[in-house]
Amino acid sequence: MEIIMGLAFFIYGTIWGSFFNVVGLRVPNKTFFKQKRSYCDHCRRTLSWIELIPIVSYIFSHGRCKKCQQKISPLYPIIECLTGIIFAFTYYRVGWNPTLILGLLLISLVIPITVSDLVYQKIPNSLLLFFTPLFILYRFFYPLNPWWNSLTGALFAFILIFTMIFLSQGGMGMGDLKYFTLLGFIFGIPQFLLLLFFSSLFCSVAGLTLLTINKNNLKKKIPFGPSIGLAALLIFYYGEEIIQRYLQLFY
Ligand SMILES: [Zn+2]
Repeated sequence: MEIIMGLAFFIYGTIWGSFFNVVGLRVPNKTFFKQKRSYCDHCRRTLSWIELIPIVSYIFSHGRCKKCQQKISPLYPIIECLTGIIFAFTYYRVGWNPTLILGLLLISLVIPITVSDLVYQKIPNSLLLFFTPLFILYRFFYPLNPWWNSLTGALFAFILIFTMIFLSQGGMGMGDLKYFTLLGFIFGIPQFLLLLFFSSLFCSVAGLTLLTINKNNLKKKIPFGPSIGLAALLIFYYGEEIIQRYLQLFY
């Protein structure tokens, strides 16, 4: 039964992943509401329903458009597959309880922002604005302990990141600031500190890896968004556990 549920969540996740791709690619350049159906990025041909099946369609078309034969970005199937895996993992980790809603909301925030930041180096305001009320509503019904930890978390995140941006003169942008503030609200101060630690760690690892592959990457700016998203998911799954283990070292 668990395997069937996991598989169902995986398939469900790939469909959402396909939608998150569209959100992440179209919201930043404001074409999200203009085109109805999915189309080829090169020849603008509207895709048939069979080409909309996540992952499978990419494999069968050998990653090329049927008409113009141009390469389809591998980002599409990668994000679809990744979202499927994360959906299934979230179900296994959390099970059927209200936290599952928080998990799915968090994924819906993290994946489109990751796509957008990777492709455009932008974290769209509209995405953050769309999700903020949903997270506030969630925390209204399922507050942190104590409940005001959300408010102090958001305030703390805002002041800390704002100061970091001010002192470092660049590196991070206003999008990162707003993203961190929302995550501070979701997680509260202790877990937010962990989130900040892991996102910096992931970003450094990504930077060093790119540098090892090619020295010219030194000039490129690495978007922070994907590392923040990965850290947010890690904290969602294991934040509580990491803090418990850490405190056990001292008490
Ligand atoms: Zn085409």
